[in-house]
Amino acid sequence: MADHRRSIPRTDALLADPRLTEARRLLGHARVKAAIVAAQRRAREGDLPPEEVLTAALAALPASASGLRPVINATGVLLHTNLGRAPLSAAARQAVVLAAGVTDVELDLATGGRGRRGRTALAALAAAVPAAEAVHVVNNNAAALALTATALAAGGEILISRGELIEIGDGFRLPDLLVSTGARLREVGMTNRTTIADYAGAIGPTTGMVLKVHPSNYRIEGFTADVPMARLSALCREHDIPLVGDVGSGLLTPEPLLPQEPDVTSWLTAGADLVTSSGDKLLGGPQCGLLFGRAGLVDRLRRHPLARALRVDKITLAALEATVAGPPTPTWESLHADQVTLRSRAESLVARLRDRGIDAEAVDSRSVVGGGGAPGVSLPSAAVALDRRAAAALREVEPPVLARVDNGRCLLDLRAVPADQDDTLLAGVLTALAGE
Ligand SMILES: *Cc1c(COP(=O)(O)O)cnc(C)c1O
Repeated sequence: MADHRRSIPRTDALLADPRLTEARRLLGHARVKAAIVAAQRRAREGDLPPEEVLTAALAALPASASGLRPVINATGVLLHTNLGRAPLSAAARQAVVLAAGVTDVELDLATGGRGRRGRTALAALAAAVPAAEAVHVVNNNAAALALTATALAAGGEILISRGELIEIGDGFRLPDLLVSTGARLREVGMTNRTTIADYAGAIGPTTGMVLKVHPSNYRIEGFTADVPMARLSALCREHDIPLVGDVGSGLLTPEPLLPQEPDVTSWLTAGADLVTSSGDKLLGGPQCGLLFGRAGLVDRLRRHPLARALRVDKITLAALEATVAGPPTPTWESLHADQVTLRSRAESLVARLRDRGIDAEAVDSRSVVGGGGAPGVSLPSAAVALDRRAAAALREVEPPVLARVDNGRCLLDLRAVPADQDDTLLAGVLTALAGE
């Protein structure tokens, strides 16, 4: 014991070691020192040879100062809420890194005066949706709806169909949000059927807006009726009431693979005055809320005092612009991946696993869009099937792999896994199942 203690390197000597320079730069002095002190304690207790104190301290340090860990999404759910919904494209990631420094987000470099905040991101959105006279960006779609309801209907009524009073997830209920702005909800129609007469009968002197919400996570089938946007628009025009649509997903234009999913352009063209959506669902961008519509209305929202509390950060603006104006997003790639290619990736992974003595099988699978929309739609996919016990071990490798347990098997669905992550996925499986 005494010998150990004598030979344990001193803290300041260890802290000065160049092998710790990078860790100190990324994690800070205090964190690195704490790791050293912990390793020294282990050495004093005889748990660690004194010459390994530095290596042990390094090994105990995380790769990043943030606790968020990158994971591989092999669940087959394209937009997984618990995994942060849409992953950003390489273009958006690069834009984020650049925007993280000092930028001209609100400065006009030509004049040296103040510029419109995020003007290039707004211009990209406007170019992507020519049907919108104006656009605005807030923190998420919930914020877009809160701002809209506050500015247009606080103290008055919002007309909404009973079939559209939805809970998004984790107990978030849209009606609660709308009511929290000081507006009252006037529910119209029935859960399964709402007609134009229901809306017409409910319009009154205190109606602030009519809201049409896309039920993005469930479907009503059977004896149903719903009023198309164009019909509702004619009614709202007649009464000079703003018609607001919440498309949810963030599709800017129709997506042929998801014919039931509404999009911003179609709803504006059909006569909605304002359309809101999320940025991190099918649009494939950062978390934000998008507002498209008539210039007068968008301006009212933009100038409302609440707008300042909901305004987005420069990093979001940068990622959003790169998402809208840049190359296809990982979400788009996942949605459009063809099953033959997915299947051959699965077969190649399986062959490589079997070479290492691991029992695996390539199987057909079904993926879903998930938290972002397209309820009831599933996409043909392919997966690597492993023993069900693999799922827990896979969450412990680096990076953790999130699988889906289905019919007693652990499935690694490849639709939401970018092809360039196959080697990392393979390494993860090999680590997780080593020693089986
Ligand atoms: C997801 C969703 C919301 C909430 O959007 P956030 O960006 O998560 O705030 C609201 N309405 C609909 C229809 C949705 O699908």
